[in-house]
Amino acid sequence: MSEWKTVIGLEVHAEMETESKMFSSCPVVDSVEAEPNTAVDALSLGMPGTLPVINMQAMEYGIMVGLALNCEIPPVNQFARKNYFYPDLPKGYQISQYDRPLAINGYINIELEDGTSKRIRVRRAHMEEDTGKLSHIAGGSLVDYNRAGVPLLEIVSEPDIHSAAEAEAYARKLRSILRYLGVNSGDMSKGVLRYEANVSVMHERDKELRERTEIKNLNSIRNMVKAIDYEVKRQIKLYRDGDAVKPATLGWDEAGGRITVQRYKERADEYRYFPEPDLPAVEVSREMVADIAAGLPALPDELQKQFVGDLGLSNYDAGVLTAERAVAEYFEAIVDAGVEPKLAANWLITDLFRLMNAEEIEREAIDRIPIAAEAFAGLLSLVQQGTINQNTARKKVLPAMWSTGASARAIVEEQGLAQVSDPAVIEAAVDKALADNRDMALRYLAGNEKVLNALFGKIMGQMRGKGDPAVLRRVLLQKLERMKQD
Ligand code: ADP
Ligand code: MG
Repeated sequence: MSEWKTVIGLEVHAEMETESKMFSSCPVVDSVEAEPNTAVDALSLGMPGTLPVINMQAMEYGIMVGLALNCEIPPVNQFARKNYFYPDLPKGYQISQYDRPLAINGYINIELEDGTSKRIRVRRAHMEEDTGKLSHIAGGSLVDYNRAGVPLLEIVSEPDIHSAAEAEAYARKLRSILRYLGVNSGDMSKGVLRYEANVSVMHERDKELRERTEIKNLNSIRNMVKAIDYEVKRQIKLYRDGDAVKPATLGWDEAGGRITVQRYKERADEYRYFPEPDLPAVEVSREMVADIAAGLPALPDELQKQFVGDLGLSNYDAGVLTAERAVAEYFEAIVDAGVEPKLAANWLITDLFRLMNAEEIEREAIDRIPIAAEAFAGLLSLVQQGTINQNTARKKVLPAMWSTGASARAIVEEQGLAQVSDPAVIEAAVDKALADNRDMALRYLAGNEKVLNALFGKIMGQMRGKGDPAVLRRVLLQKLERMKQD
């Protein structure tokens, strides 16, 4: 064990995917697809004399997220001006929230690889407006204000995260919750969801947290993990060498696989926050909170518990199946069609995910694969009824369904793949195999038990893989036993 402990707090920015911007009726567009500066109005451009109006849909989405993160929703929240100058912020200040955020004191449960779970506290979630987007080109910088003013929820964790793996679990869980709620697509490549990691290390003798750095511009969870690992090692080395960690904003250089320093922070940023004079404080009635809470969809933790409690799945399998809402729905549709839940879970997690991985299809796109849930249920029903054996289903029927889109039943009929359970047919196959491979049978009888599987394989091969494995094994053992006695 290292005498250094990792300490991480994550700040997450999630756009709330509303029709219009946070403080005006200007439409929100896809900031990657749309022509730059086509979704702007006087307010997003920070023209003097414009006045903001609060987008209540965005506030409602924010409260949904707050509740889903087990936060308290204070009865009043308030916008504040965060003053700084940067070309992506034409007003010269960002309307954000400061001392009266929308949501406070929540938590997220994360599942760790060793099967344990852990609670990470969420300090606050506050509403603000997104800024424009800068692109740096040779000879200058370009700015696109389509994104300026898009509703943005900032979710700040406590420094409760103690490894890159925990940071990953937190990031994935948060993304999953946002997607379940339908308020954010989770598409990090488009920047609608952005993570910043505050990282420090602590010596085992330390009583207090040490200086931290902040890693920005992480465009995927995978890169976040790499960046944290790199940064933790860098800080430990600095301390071991007798140097100090200087507060800094860092970036992740994906191509170089290393941290770059964007700027050192000489002193704390001074934003001269003050309450936004153009907006009233927002009262959130208890009735409104109760209504929003009542309308929340089932969330991953809840579904996971149901899958364990009602369907008898392992905690791990239930976690995998509920991480994405689309996967949970796919699974539920199979079970609703009458497939035994454990069989459904095994086939989904091992076989179907393997096919999806091979074609690099994201799990969340499971509703667009060539095999619809009903069709997959059709395959598993054939397995369950013993019409085909597991191996035929796995090796022949499933790949054919994937490539042709045909139903399992049609493929089984067309290719004559139905399982043969008739003991008379199986007996004949076993007799023939034992006669053809007498040497193997004798080796088994002489004590070499491993030969049994080889014999089994020969018979199954002779039956084109269609034998009922249980019957086949029973008949084979009976015949061998008889040979022994003869
Ligand atoms: P600020 O007010 O300057 O933004 P905060 O104390 O609010 O700083 O923390 C911002 C984020 O940094 C939070 O997610 C918090 O958990 C995290 N954080 C604070 N101190 C540390 C530390 N020493 N190491 C790692 N993360 C930290
Ligand atoms: Mg912020």
